[in-house]
Amino acid sequence: MNINSQYRTVSPEHEISIIELAPSSIKRRLDSLSSLHTNDEKTLRYGKLAINAFKGRKPSEKVMQVMYSNMDNYIKRLGVTSKSICRKGCAQCCTQPVSMTSVEAKYISDTYGIDASFDSSRTSEGMCPFNKDNQCSIYSARPIECRLFHAFESPVLCYEDRGQSTFSIESEPYFSALQREMSELGDREGIFDIRHWFA
Ligand code: SF4
Repeated sequence: MNINSQYRTVSPEHEISIIELAPSSIKRRLDSLSSLHTNDEKTLRYGKLAINAFKGRKPSEKVMQVMYSNMDNYIKRLGVTSKSICRKGCAQCCTQPVSMTSVEAKYISDTYGIDASFDSSRTSEGMCPFNKDNQCSIYSARPIECRLFHAFESPVLCYEDRGQSTFSIESEPYFSALQREMSELGDREGIFDIRHWFA
């Protein structure tokens, strides 16, 4: 896996407890990411199922459920979840842009009974409207971009606008394929920031 160095906008409005990892521990963590690729049959099956759930059609609510579940399982079996330093209550990533398709907006709307009222004039900056008290209030229906974001070094890097190593889907064939499917859907129906779908 490639390691992505990204810079995150910093505007902390709350405090989180941050455990600084020793440099040797960070190095071990990053080294282990380079071997995230797996030949494990069950993991690969989850990846394939995630794409097939989406392929070539506008997914139903049930299909979305299956896709998210397969995606979560795939990430877990890759080992991304256990190596991620992301924790409940650390919400700095929720200030970043979150692109999503109409089917994801509809899934949130159906699952939580919230009206999706598209408005392109709304700002796409600032905290996500679903972040309440530094936690995601639509966690089970959160969009793909949120599911895929995992940081691997110290949370301090996110807050202090320094380079952070994050999960990179480019080198994961199944996520790349899923992303292509999403892009095609986006070409047909548009991909917009979550703040444009929901106030
Ligand atoms: S949907 Fe949830 S996880 Fe995603 S940016 Fe909004 S609050 Fe954060």
